[in-house]
Amino acid sequence: MNEYSQDRVNLHTHSFFCGHGTGLVEEYALQAIDQGVSVLGCSEHCPTPDNRWPRSRMSFGRLDEYVAACKATQAAHGPAGRDDLLVLRGFECDYRPEYRSYFEDHLYGDLGCDYLLFGVHYLQLPERRDVPVHRGPLGKADLHAYTEQYIEAMRSGLFLFGAHPDLFAFNYRAWDDEAVACSRAILSCAVDLDMALEINGYGFRKPLVEAPDGMRMAYPIPRFWELAAAEFPSLLVTTNSDAHDASDVAVHWPACRQFAAGFGLKFVRIRIDDRPDGGYRVKMLAP
Ligand SMILES: [Zn+2]
Ligand SMILES: [Zn+2]
Repeated sequence: MNEYSQDRVNLHTHSFFCGHGTGLVEEYALQAIDQGVSVLGCSEHCPTPDNRWPRSRMSFGRLDEYVAACKATQAAHGPAGRDDLLVLRGFECDYRPEYRSYFEDHLYGDLGCDYLLFGVHYLQLPERRDVPVHRGPLGKADLHAYTEQYIEAMRSGLFLFGAHPDLFAFNYRAWDDEAVACSRAILSCAVDLDMALEINGYGFRKPLVEAPDGMRMAYPIPRFWELAAAEFPSLLVTTNSDAHDASDVAVHWPACRQFAAGFGLKFVRIRIDDRPDGGYRVKMLAP
């Protein structure tokens, strides 16, 4: 059993496997060592057996190759290897109930994943399916769909934490009653379930967007985390770089630390236990 402070852990990274990231898993490990990271989580955009979301997800046919790359990197650098870098293997998933047994039985079961995280990147709307959150303006109904999907994923019990909960703000630019209500619903569910939510480091590296009250980051948005700090003081807060390039493994940390401190938010500690099958169990603990 080992416990780590947040500044030594990054569990959200994407390599070349997803098609829009760069760098081999091995290159991420070398950068992690260079940048003072002790626990590196590989969380490639999760493929589905029916190759849904093909433009942004690794293809299903490469699943075994990816897992093998994670395992080889772990063996080379891990506790028994030449460095003391712990490499965990996981995926960033979009939850849909129809993939439940795939996540549970295949990813956790057959492939022995150490953790899964989720984000809501595509909206399931009554008239259209899989509308990208990052493309085009979102209306109130879209925001509700986002919130429902986010909560459904949290409640599935499959995920270690929720990524970029305020991603909706990328294209729902107003901070109005609707945004407050939806944010509150997500935050209160996370507190009920003891599930950590992520201040996403990738947002700090993206272009600003125009909102009704001026230019701001697409995400994370201060209003969401201000609300979290004011009304949900026991919320577990984590942060990751969401690196899509190996050199970005820990680049997020100073900005995320400063952002969180501005609201008096403290980050989780991360506990990692060995599993009998050689894998790891990850838990996020209150600061
Ligand atoms: Zn990505
Ligand atoms: Zn994401």
